[in-house]
Amino acid sequence: MHADTYRHRGLRRALVEELRRKGIRDERVLTAIGTVPRHLFFEAAFQPHAYQDKAFPIGEGQTISQPYTVAYQTELLQVQPGERVLEIGTGSGYQCCVLLELTPHVFSIEYNQVLFERTARRLATLHRPAHLFCGDGSLGLPQHAPFDKILVTAGSPALPRPLLRQLRVGGSLVIPVGDEHTQRMVRVVRESEEEFSRQVLEEFRFVPLLGQAGWKE
Ligand code: SAH
Repeated sequence: MHADTYRHRGLRRALVEELRRKGIRDERVLTAIGTVPRHLFFEAAFQPHAYQDKAFPIGEGQTISQPYTVAYQTELLQVQPGERVLEIGTGSGYQCCVLLELTPHVFSIEYNQVLFERTARRLATLHRPAHLFCGDGSLGLPQHAPFDKILVTAGSPALPRPLLRQLRVGGSLVIPVGDEHTQRMVRVVRESEEEFSRQVLEEFRFVPLLGQAGWKE
């Protein structure tokens, strides 16, 4: 059940080439995607589709992001080895494991208790030592701040102030911002204690970021 076979490795190599054709350039990101066995983050029924460049249901009305989206966000984050990274929206744990290929210090927070428990078990089985939390990630993780990088994997109505405050100076936040239907990817850099710069990039479609600094339920 937890097998990673020769066939899976071949499918991953093909996925990496597809992402390269779609414009992903960072070799460390491509290597990470080529390493993490994405099929082990799927329910049995969807496993045969795990290496298509598509989003799939993971239960609780949530989805595992499309590999292109995972690669795009990870590339923007420019994680350096040893940096402390916070992910909001653990979901299946796949993106979290891609980040773990780049730095050992990955914190991830999930709002949905069922997904949190399932994914915590999955990452333990896979021996992936992320720091997992259950709660409202729109408020960040103040007890473990500051972070070098913060990645939000759900669509937000605005830039959550708690997340901006938990960035180290020089650090960056990557977050999709928009309405419930479409969002633009935004990269915010904390230039100094009080100054932030922002780049608004491509359009995406994420499930909503819930919670106090997200969409009200
Ligand atoms: N990164 C995930 C994809 C997650 S989909 C993966 O690789 O599989 C977005 C996730 O964000 C969902 O699991 C949803 O439950 C979660 N989420 C929504 N609002 C949240 C919040 N305020 N705090 C933490 N997680 C949240």
